[in-house]
Amino acid sequence: MKSYIYVAILMIIGLTTTTAHAELQKNRYCIRFNATYDDNSNGEDYLKNDGLVAVPGVPYSITRGLDVVATGELDLNGCTDILKLTVDNTYKIHITYQINGADGRTVKFLSQNATSWKYGTVYSYYTTTKIYKIATSDGGPATIYRNMPNTVHGRLLPIARLMLERADILNWPTGVDIYYAIDNPTLCNPIWGHFLSGHSSDNLKKICYSTDTQKTAFAHETGHAIAHMHGGPNRGDYAGDTYLGARCIGNSYCHAPTTHKFFTREWVGAAASEGFAHFIAAATFNWRSTASGVFTYYKNNVYTTDFSGPTPASTPIKVGRYHSFELNGIAYNGNPNTLPTYSNLYCQPPTIFKHLGSEGDWLFFFWGLWTGGGESRFNIAEIKEVWANTPATEKAIDVHCVRRDIPGSEHGWTCFEAPWTYYSPSVEFGWRYDDGQWRLGFTHDEIIPSIKSIRGKGYYALANAALIQLGPEKKSFFEDTARRARVVY
Ligand SMILES: [Zn+2]
Repeated sequence: MKSYIYVAILMIIGLTTTTAHAELQKNRYCIRFNATYDDNSNGEDYLKNDGLVAVPGVPYSITRGLDVVATGELDLNGCTDILKLTVDNTYKIHITYQINGADGRTVKFLSQNATSWKYGTVYSYYTTTKIYKIATSDGGPATIYRNMPNTVHGRLLPIARLMLERADILNWPTGVDIYYAIDNPTLCNPIWGHFLSGHSSDNLKKICYSTDTQKTAFAHETGHAIAHMHGGPNRGDYAGDTYLGARCIGNSYCHAPTTHKFFTREWVGAAASEGFAHFIAAATFNWRSTASGVFTYYKNNVYTTDFSGPTPASTPIKVGRYHSFELNGIAYNGNPNTLPTYSNLYCQPPTIFKHLGSEGDWLFFFWGLWTGGGESRFNIAEIKEVWANTPATEKAIDVHCVRRDIPGSEHGWTCFEAPWTYYSPSVEFGWRYDDGQWRLGFTHDEIIPSIKSIRGKGYYALANAALIQLGPEKKSFFEDTARRARVVY
C-alpha cells in the first residue's frame, strides 16, 4: 500500500516537470572557432581541415540582461545544452579564451591590456542571439551555431587544444599551465615577436605571441615551454655565425645577421633547443607511426637543398616562407649521402672547434629518435631525461671564444679552455719585453677580447647520459641517429 502512494507522488512530480519544460525552450549552443591558416594542409596534419573547429573545455556564460542564465565549459563537441531560454528574448553568449584541459593543465590567452601574467584578464568575446527557435518535434534540442571571428586569439585556440589533447605524448606534465600574452605591449616587447618569456621552474609558463596567421610558430613556442618542463634542451647562445672573419660571413645561408633561421650556424645548445621546439611542433601536427612527416617553416628566405638525388646540390636553394621540409630524410636504411645534414655540407664548423650546428639538423635528429628504431625509439619524456641528466659542465655554460684564421684554409672560430680572456689572432701568447722586463703575455699590440658564450651541453656527455639513464640499446640508437643527422660534435 505504502509503495502505491510513493509511485503516485512520483508521477505527479514527473508531470509537473514535463509541464515546466514545455514552457521553456531547450536549445543547444555550439561554438566554432576559425582555424584558417596560411600554412595549412601539410602532411598528416591533425589540423588539416581548416575552417571552423570545435574547442572543448572553453568556459562560457550566458546572460540575459544582468541575469546569468548558465555557465560551464563547452563539451567534447564544443557545445552545451541550455534550458531556461524563452522565445523573443536576447541572450549574450560570453566566451573566455581559455581551455581547462585534463589533469590540471590550463591554457589562458591574456587580453591585450593585461598587466599581470598570473592575475591578468583573459581575452573574451561575446555574441548576442535572439531566441526564436523551439525544440524540434521529436523532443531534441534546437541547435544554434555561433562562429567566433577570425582573430589571432581564435585561430590559436584550436592549436592549444590539440596540444592539450596530445599533452601526454608531448610530455606536457600534469598541473603545468601555459599563459599566452598576445599582442600585449605591456607584458611583451613587440620587437621580439614570438618568444618564451618565463624560464622559471614553477608550474606556469609564459609565452609572448604576436599576430600571425600560421600555426607552426605557435606550437614551436609551446615546444620551448615543454622543454623547460623537467629539463629538455633549452640552453645555448645564438652567436655561432656572427663574428667578423667567421666562415659563415658571405654565406648568407649559414648566417642570419639579427636572428636565427632553420640552417644558420648557432652554438650547439641553441641549435638543439630550437630543433627541439621545431620537433614538438612536428610531433603536434604529424603522426608518430610514420616517419614521413612534414615540418612547415615559418620564416622567410631560408635556404635548403634538394636531398633526394644521389648527392645534394653544391649550392643551397633559397626558398620562401612556409616551406615544407620532409622529415623522412632521417629514415632508416637511407643513403647517408642523401640525408639532410645541412651544417656539415655547407656551414661546417672550423676543424678545431665543432660545437656549432643548425636547428634544422637537430629537428631531423629528434624526429629520427622519436619515429625510428622500433623498440629502441625514444619518447619525448626520454629525450628530456637525457638532457636533464647531462651535467652542465663549466664549458657547457661558459666558453671564451676568439676568431681563428688559418691562411688559405679556413676562417672561423676556436675556443680556449684556459681562463684567459684575450687573444691575438696573428701572434701567439709568449714572452715579451715590456716596461723594462720580460713578461709572459701577448707579443703583439693587436689583442682582441674573447667573447664569453653559453655553448650548451655537448654531444658526448649527452650520449653518456643516454647510456646511464636508458641503457646500451637506446644509447646505441641515440648515437646512430646522431651520426645520420650529423649532430655529433
Ligand atoms: Zn625558438
